[in-house]
Amino acid sequence: MTEKTIAVIKQAIHTIENYPIDGVMFRDITGILENAEAFQATIDLLKDKFENQGFTKIVGTEARGFLFGAPLACAMGIGFVPVRKPGKLPRATYAQSYQLEYGQDTLEIHQDALVKEDKVLIVDDLLATGGTIEATTKLIQKLGANPHSAAFVISLPDLGGEEKLSQLDLNVYSILQFE
Ligand code: AMP
Repeated sequence: MTEKTIAVIKQAIHTIENYPIDGVMFRDITGILENAEAFQATIDLLKDKFENQGFTKIVGTEARGFLFGAPLACAMGIGFVPVRKPGKLPRATYAQSYQLEYGQDTLEIHQDALVKEDKVLIVDDLLATGGTIEATTKLIQKLGANPHSAAFVISLPDLGGEEKLSQLDLNVYSILQFE
């Protein structure tokens, strides 16, 4: 994948200062979705990186993980499993809580969505502190499957997520890194 492709993706990302609260530089990926070339390039790049490595499922976290995880699963010819906020999944679920800067949140997965033979690629739009993906990793482990790798469009290395996920033995990849 060429630097030009990465530049197409990067240019489609909008940065909004002080959103949703003061001090946050919000990286808005909706510009990628609106731009067919950038969206296709993102999925193609992730497919090239992860295909033919034995992955059997993609797990994506609500909500922006769905936007990249589901098309990538289709492109790779494997299934997609959503991890959702509480009360949204209709079959029996496992839940995992995790800490936010203020308070805590919970994510859920269908109990029968994965089997122990599954080699899983986790997909989300952005890696910040890693709390969301740590909780997602624990959910995958509760089902006995192998949370092998995690892929992001954007990573914010200064916030410590890459380090946190590496300690969980996750192989971490991001297309772009921002401060
Ligand atoms: P974390 O659990 O701290 O790694 O947070 C990751 C989630 O929060 C991702 O699903 C992002 O959608 C969202 N997020 C955190 N920081 C930002 C940011 N600066 N810009 C856009 N989204 C963010």
